Parts: sequence; C-alpha cells; structure tokens
Amino acid sequence: MKTACIMESKAEYPIGKIVCLARNYVAHIKELGNETPEQPVLFIKPSTSVIGSGEIIRIPSYSGECHYEVELALLIGTGGKDISEGSALDHIAGYGVALDMTLRDVQNELKKKGLPWEIAKGFDTSCPLSEFVPAAVVSDPQNLRIRLEINGELRQDGTTDHMIHPVRRIVAHISSIFTLEPGDVILTGTPSGVGPVVSGDRLRAELVGLATLEVAVE
Ligand code: ZN
Repeated sequence: MKTACIMESKAEYPIGKIVCLARNYVAHIKELGNETPEQPVLFIKPSTSVIGSGEIIRIPSYSGECHYEVELALLIGTGGKDISEGSALDHIAGYGVALDMTLRDVQNELKKKGLPWEIAKGFDTSCPLSEFVPAAVVSDPQNLRIRLEINGELRQDGTTDHMIHPVRRIVAHISSIFTLEPGDVILTGTPSGVGPVVSGDRLRAELVGLATLEVAVE
C-alpha cells in the first residue's frame, strides 16, 4: 500500500483516491489549445500510480511521448462530503508537490475519440509525490510557488495565485461529487511549460521552500 507522509511528524496516511484537475492555469490551457472550462475538469489516478523521491518513472511501451506536469498536491486529513469553501482548508493535512506524468500522444488520441484518459494518466509510476509539509505551515495556499528542473534546467515555474479555481473551491467542488477521506490526494493542475521527458532525464520538482521531489526516467 502506498502512503503519504507528513514531514517532521510520524503521521502517515494510506493513500486513497487521487483526484486531479485538468486546465487550472490559463497559460497552460493556451499552450495545449484547449478551451477554458466553467467547471473544473476532473480525473482520477489510482493510488498504485504513486512513487516517491528516489524512484524511477517507467514509460509504458504503448506511448512515444510522456510529458511532465508539475503540480501543487493537497493531502486530505479530515474527510467530508459537501465541504464548504469556508471550511475547506481545515480538511487539508499537508501540502506537497507532485508530477502528473501524462502520455500526451495517448491522451490526444483518447480526447479525439471522446474516451476516458486513465491509460494516459494513471499508469504505474505516473504520480511521483513528495512528502507533505504540515498545513499549519502554509498560511495562504494561493501564495505558493512550484518549479520543475530537468537535468538542472528550469522548465516550469508557476505561482498558485494564477490558478483559475483556488484551493478552497477545488476542495469544495470535488467533495460535492466524491466524498473525501483521510489520505485522499488532490492534484491542482499544472502551470505552463509542459513538455516531454526522455530516458535518463532527472526531474527535480519543488514546492519552493517547503518540499522537494527527485525522480528519474528509466
Ligand atoms: Zn495535470
């Protein structure tokens, strides 16, 4: 079973579902030529997709184009259904950084056919995930910075004040559809700058000043 860890405490949560937002930063929507949705676009990765720092991303043989997407990750500590925006932050145990590894060629084919994305987004190793900084450390989740370097070169650098749907609304909206449970993880969408990885790449993602994640591509 995959677990999420809170730094500097012994708290560990068995990871439940991983609910992800697509299209939550305008500049990223434009770079992929997508439309800006009125409601958040949601999809789910299985908990088996998680790897931790020091582990290896393995690109499935049915894809020739695997993209990185660096994202702010939320760890749910207190579950709930129909959580209000006003109380949403109280349900978060910690903040971390994740990579939403995406088989872009496969996803584009599925999108064209109107088919679900799971095999492009939920394969084994598709969700590298850092440890989580305790929520108490973060006074404003819309004032965070996420960065990604590949082989030492900066590829993505975004701030959460550019989210279309802020963290409070994301938690409230998701909980109106899926009951949230302790150990569930939410990925909040990627800023612009996505692109492909190749064999041997070393990825270093950072929730700046708070958490880091280092993985390599097989
Ligand atoms: Zn994503």
